[in-house]
Amino acid sequence: MRPIAEVRATILGTVRVVGSETTDIQGAVGRILAEPVVAAHDVPSFANSAMDGFAVRASDVSTPDAVLEILEDVPAGQVASVAVGEGQAVKIMTGAPMPDGADTVVRVEDTEEMAGKVRIATAPERGTAVRLPGGDVAAGTTVFGKGTRLSEAHVGVLATLGVVAPVVARRPRVAVMSTGDELVPADTDELAPGLIRDSNRPMLLSLVAGAGAEAVDMGNVPDDADSLRAALGQAAVEADAIVTSGGVSMGEFDVTKMVLRDDSDVDFFPVAMKPGKPQAFGTLGGTPFFGLPGNPVSVLVSFEQFMRPALLAMQGAGALLRPRVMGVAAEDLVSDPAKEEFIRVVFLDDSATPTVAQTGGSGSHVLSGAANADAFAVLPVDVEKVPKGEPVILELFRAVETRTVRGD
Ligand code: AMP
Ligand code: MG
Repeated sequence: MRPIAEVRATILGTVRVVGSETTDIQGAVGRILAEPVVAAHDVPSFANSAMDGFAVRASDVSTPDAVLEILEDVPAGQVASVAVGEGQAVKIMTGAPMPDGADTVVRVEDTEEMAGKVRIATAPERGTAVRLPGGDVAAGTTVFGKGTRLSEAHVGVLATLGVVAPVVARRPRVAVMSTGDELVPADTDELAPGLIRDSNRPMLLSLVAGAGAEAVDMGNVPDDADSLRAALGQAAVEADAIVTSGGVSMGEFDVTKMVLRDDSDVDFFPVAMKPGKPQAFGTLGGTPFFGLPGNPVSVLVSFEQFMRPALLAMQGAGALLRPRVMGVAAEDLVSDPAKEEFIRVVFLDDSATPTVAQTGGSGSHVLSGAANADAFAVLPVDVEKVPKGEPVILELFRAVETRTVRGD
């Protein structure tokens, strides 16, 4: 059995970065920068007040209870018409530019206004409550490097800098198909005996989209060599990557394996992982091909371990792997020591090292258990058991705020 890291390295060594394009910033979340974003100007671009209050000269308020003459009011968006001289102040709102001459802002709570004058109760340090130019971003600096995956906050910064058409990686087009004569579409009302609804394809289409790629639904391909050959041939031409589920293990109707094992650049191999041991990877006419197993939890785990990093790499991402943190086992967690095991677990508390319990058992068909999970507990090769109360590695494979609400 091949180690996960070795398989992933092979995959990452095979995939290539796709081209780039511009996007509008409203569609930029999840996209990956293909060029760095360099600040054309300082942010803030001018010194401004961090508070509603009075712009003063620190030298005038070196002791409490100084009384100053109020020159004018400056709301945000306006500029003071006069400079602040000795013994003078300007009433200023948050975000308004600092008037010439003033170097300090006294918040309104520390002042008392009376007939054109203001008493300053405190003796603030020079520069208090003043936001300096470049204090957020300095002109000319690289704010975000190439390979950054953009989040909502990145969108805000891009807008601040006037970068409304960032250059990002093109979305890789990923052809998604299921294989299996037992599969019927999810919108089938009545299931004939022996048939099941195709769950891998909708899940994979969503997983692919979640990795920033464009998922192309190629449907379910029956367990028939000619149908599969035709579908794969079309996908290899149209897509940047292909993913199938099912048909890669030892069964007699494992058509994916029958079609690709011999005369193609696709390898079929066991990986030291559970679930997801049988895997296929290679290229079809130069297009990366991922042959995932059929069981739905195996699909999820192998997508996470192999395909998600590959799709991110195809977009030039700087970070490919999910974060891992430590938790505590609420019960004994057992594993096959020959394999790296990904046990689906729920958080029992919201602490920094959450206590976790297994959800849905170990069957690779129990997708509801994976859906109810907050993380994978990762038991590396050679680990047989993490006993109750002991630390365990958690891989956060989705946003924790999507936690399933349990109860009735
Ligand atoms: P296979 O490797 O093709 O023998 O599939 C292994 C198991 O996964 C079988 O129980 C299949 O019915 C199931 N399976 C395969 N593809 C899908 C799918 N698209 N949706 C749900 N279950 C599937
Ligand atoms: Mg099958």
